[in-house]
Amino acid sequence: MKKKQYTFKGGYRFRRIEGCPRDMLTTQDIPNEVLIPLKQGFGMGVVSLVKEGDIVVAGQIIGRDDSNVSSPVHASVSGVVKEIKLSNYLGHETQIVRISTRKDKADDCKKVKGFTSDWAKLKNEEIESILYLAGVTSLDKSGIPTKFKSSIITPKDVRSIIVPAIGFDVYNLSQELLLGEKRVLDYIEGLRILHAFMPQANIYLALSKTDMQINEKLSEAVSQYGFINIISLEPKYPQGYDEMLVATVLGEKFPFGYYAANLGVIVLNAQTILSVYEAVVKGKPLIERTIAICGPGFNDTPHLKVRIGTPIADILKSYLRTDVSSRIVLENTLVGDKLTDLSLPVTKATSKIIALPENNKREFFSFLRLGVKRDAYSNTFASSVFPFCDKTLDTNIHGELRPCISCNYCEEVCPVQIIPHLLGKYVKNNIIDDSLVRFKIFNCIGCGLCSYVCPSKIPLLELIKEGEKKLAMEGIERSSSILPHFKLKGLKEYKGITTKL
Ligand code: SF4
Ligand code: SF4
Repeated sequence: MKKKQYTFKGGYRFRRIEGCPRDMLTTQDIPNEVLIPLKQGFGMGVVSLVKEGDIVVAGQIIGRDDSNVSSPVHASVSGVVKEIKLSNYLGHETQIVRISTRKDKADDCKKVKGFTSDWAKLKNEEIESILYLAGVTSLDKSGIPTKFKSSIITPKDVRSIIVPAIGFDVYNLSQELLLGEKRVLDYIEGLRILHAFMPQANIYLALSKTDMQINEKLSEAVSQYGFINIISLEPKYPQGYDEMLVATVLGEKFPFGYYAANLGVIVLNAQTILSVYEAVVKGKPLIERTIAICGPGFNDTPHLKVRIGTPIADILKSYLRTDVSSRIVLENTLVGDKLTDLSLPVTKATSKIIALPENNKREFFSFLRLGVKRDAYSNTFASSVFPFCDKTLDTNIHGELRPCISCNYCEEVCPVQIIPHLLGKYVKNNIIDDSLVRFKIFNCIGCGLCSYVCPSKIPLLELIKEGEKKLAMEGIERSSSILPHFKLKGLKEYKGITTKL
């Protein structure tokens, strides 16, 4: 057996960043209307089962397609279907169902058939059916396999389940809040439910080395379950990426550009495990999410319990600062999607809304400034003298594009040990050939750290992505450099699937 490594070379730990979500949970008001995309979470889009004018109940399945890799989509409120329209969500064309809410029916919710607190008596197929019908199977990067086509693999193919109960990003959902006193038992029950129909799979709880409270609480709670292993990791970015979790927790190589599921591994976050519990024990379909409000562009940064389909503009109304204009980014501060249409809704895949104040001011000789409140990779005078100052993020790159100074910072932080400055130089000089493949351009996981730390402000990630596209145009595909090294499952089903929405 290969030796497990509990950290990886490279990466970066963000410390003392302003605008982290507070340990407070508020329920967002049910909106006047919701917008439900028929493509949400892992899998393909589904077919509408409703038409304009139909009356729907919260929890009712309004979209489903058992013939493609997908999971059912539900009405998140009770009301009337006003419109079904093809729209663009972050570059993807999808049907969106607009439902106007009946506020007098706000508490109604259709339960999933077959749920029970005595779930241990259920057959595997019955548990799988509840999870599928609840829509929970489309959560996270590769979904949850069931007897339906909810994943690219089957439950029998799963050999490991990794559950990161920790945040490794700039901003993270509070695990303390998600797994508060009462919820730990629900969480453990969610893990046991998964193990019931995937008994061959080892479960790994990936915790932060530094979060002693959660560590102790979970270690004690799972001590009687031999199939649950606790792994302590360094809380640095991008440890939360599936690629890095497979490498650190299992000590295995990742087929870059494919899914962990292709290896027989699924990665599910703490909120998904709680949704598994709620579906099977309480019969609750996936109609709401807990999301974190993050960043210095907000006047408050609580966690919100919000109905899927709530327009993001409704949420911003209450929390966005009015004295600055902010860029709204979803999920990932460094490489998340910039939201230009704020009427778009929260989906199953939304967990963080980040607001970064826009700042276009040019700063000449920025690298000579003290930067006490600025996060910097280099161990500057300011960061060593003022290590306890909170750092604030904005959209300013703080300086002008300059030539590469061969500082190697980009190489130091790269979590997959490729050489971003070298790849960047090749692409910039339009040298698009096999040398890019030899320098492992296809191993880039798109974390954006190289661009973030570069003191010369070179957009390395953009150049790498451009290089990959140009290689594809030359007929040099990722598959030819990755596939010969792996025996992957679910390759046929994997094509065309995204987790974007
Ligand atoms: S080259 Fe890719 S993987 Fe490496 S730091 Fe840059 S974005 Fe991340
Ligand atoms: S971080 Fe920027 S300046 Fe430093 S080696 Fe990389 S590309 Fe060059």
